[in-house]
Amino acid sequence: MINVTKPFLPSLSEYTEYLEGIWERNWLTNNGPLVNDLELKLKEYLSVKHLLFLSNGTIAIQIAIKALELKGEIITTPFSYVATTSSIVWENCKPVFADIDPLSLNIDPKKIEERITPATTAILATHVYGNPCDVDAIELIAQKHNLKVIYDAAHAFGVTYKGKSIFEYGDASTTSFHATKVFHTIEGGAIFANDAQLLKKMSQLRNFGHSGPETFECVGINGKNSEFHAAMGLVNLKHIDSILESRKIQALTYDKVLAPLRIQKPLILPGANWNYSYYPIIFESEEQLLKSIQVLNDNWVYPRRYFFPSLSTLHFVDKYEVPVSEDICRRVLCLPMYHSLKTEDIDFIARLLLRVQNN
Ligand SMILES: *Cc1c(COP(=O)(O)O)cnc(C)c1O
Repeated sequence: MINVTKPFLPSLSEYTEYLEGIWERNWLTNNGPLVNDLELKLKEYLSVKHLLFLSNGTIAIQIAIKALELKGEIITTPFSYVATTSSIVWENCKPVFADIDPLSLNIDPKKIEERITPATTAILATHVYGNPCDVDAIELIAQKHNLKVIYDAAHAFGVTYKGKSIFEYGDASTTSFHATKVFHTIEGGAIFANDAQLLKKMSQLRNFGHSGPETFECVGINGKNSEFHAAMGLVNLKHIDSILESRKIQALTYDKVLAPLRIQKPLILPGANWNYSYYPIIFESEEQLLKSIQVLNDNWVYPRRYFFPSLSTLHFVDKYEVPVSEDICRRVLCLPMYHSLKTEDIDFIARLLLRVQNN
C-alpha cells in the first residue's frame, strides 16, 4: 500500500538515547532542557531570531490572534486546512474569505483589498504547500490599511524568500510540527515573531498567563510541549537535510514521468527556495480527478484531496464568492510523497495516471 504520506521515524536507538536523559533528570515537561535545546537548534537551523515551541500548530495560530488582540474581521484564504479558519472563529473573530490566485493557489492580494471594511483588523494567509504568499504585496496592503499580518506557515519548514526564512515575515508566523509534516515532533508547532514585547506576551499565553510563579498577567492557555516531543524533534533535526533532499529528488522524478499528463502545478513564487513539502497536481476536470483516484485506489495507492472542500463551504462561516478556490478544490490532488517512497513507486503511479488519461 502507498499512502499519501508516511511519518518519518528515526532508528529507535537514536530516540531512546534521549529517553535515558529524561529518566535521569526526571523532568518531563514545563520548559525542560530538551525543549530549550530544540528551540536553540531550530533557531540556528532556520536562521531566525526568535521562536516558541508549542504543543501544536493550531494553538500557535490561536495564540497569535490572541496576542495581537485581534477583533472583528480577519481576511483569510479559503484554500487551506480547516485549522486556519476554525482558529479565527474560536477566537471570536469573523473569517472573511478573499479568493486565491489561480496560478500560485495562495491568497490573491488584489482580492484582499476588495474585502477590507472598517471592521477589518488583520490578514491571516497560508503559504500553501510551502509556496510563499506574495508577502511583499501583502505587506504593502497591511501598511496602507493598518492591518496586522499572520502567516500560517504550517507547510513551510525550511523555506526561504529573498534569502530570509519565510517564518520571519508578518507580525507573527506559525508552523506545525505534526507527524505528517516535513519536520515533526509527533505533535507540535511553533510561533515566530520579531517584536520582543509581542514574543513575551505569547510566551506568557503559552503558559497559563503566568508572569511569575504566583502571578498571572493575562488569560492564558496551556500551549507547552514536552521533553518527549522535543526529543523527537532533536533526533529528526539531524535527518532533516536528507529528508528535504529526498523530497526534491522525488518531486523532480514526478515532474519527469508526469510530463505527458495534462495537469497544472502551482507556480512557485520567484525568489523563494521551496521545500517540496507536497506534490499537488490539478486535473482538467473533477471527473478526471475522480477517475484517477479510483484507478489508484484499485492499485492500493491512496492520494489525498488536499484541500477539499473549499473552506468557504463550511457551515459555520459567512458566504463569500471565491470561485477560483472552489474550482481548484474540486480538481486538486496530492500524490504520495514521503522519505522512503521509491522511484519505482513514482513510476508505477505515473503509469496508472497516464493510463486513465489515455483511456
Ligand atoms: C497541519 C496544519 C495546521 C495545523 O497544525 P497542527 O499541528 O496539526 O495543529 C494548520 N494549518 C495548516 C495549513 C496545516 O496544514
